Amino acid sequence: MKILWTPWRSKYIETFKEEKKGEKHKTCFLCDAINGVGEDKDRLIVARKKHCFVILNKFPYNNGHILLAPYRHIGEMNDLNNEELIELTFTLKDSVEILKKIYCPSGFNIGINLGRSAGAGLPEHLHFHVVPRWDGDTSFMATLFDVKIVSQSLEETQAILKRAFDEYLKQNI
Ligand SMILES: [Zn+2]
Repeated sequence: MKILWTPWRSKYIETFKEEKKGEKHKTCFLCDAINGVGEDKDRLIVARKKHCFVILNKFPYNNGHILLAPYRHIGEMNDLNNEELIELTFTLKDSVEILKKIYCPSGFNIGINLGRSAGAGLPEHLHFHVVPRWDGDTSFMATLFDVKIVSQSLEETQAILKRAFDEYLKQNI
């Protein structure tokens, strides 16, 4: 019996089902976020660098779950040029330091899902996931029912991480 309701995961699963049925026009949420109108905070962007950017996962598995992606809409590792590869790697390193300072996690999951069968929700635009982890955050509820409790709102998280990235990048140029 599913006791808790997780609106963010349910919405994600529904979107995925619709896409699969071809009922929804396919768009790229990463390109939409970068090229859209309005402020970065409304689109959950926390850092813009020269070749890549950092954005919150709209359907987080934990507080502070971020995505790192190149600006270019490319889906293969081999499509990354040297500048993108270098900047993504450094941004990955910086992201871990920033998340450590803000959330004090006891570990991280860092990864990239290449292709639908590997679990990529958006295989056409590659992106790294960085997920902070705490001891005991994988409860039986999460494991059995895909239920997670994320205590911080996306708006709060965006504001905190945007400030942290700005400060960190200023000090480390
Ligand atoms: Zn894209």
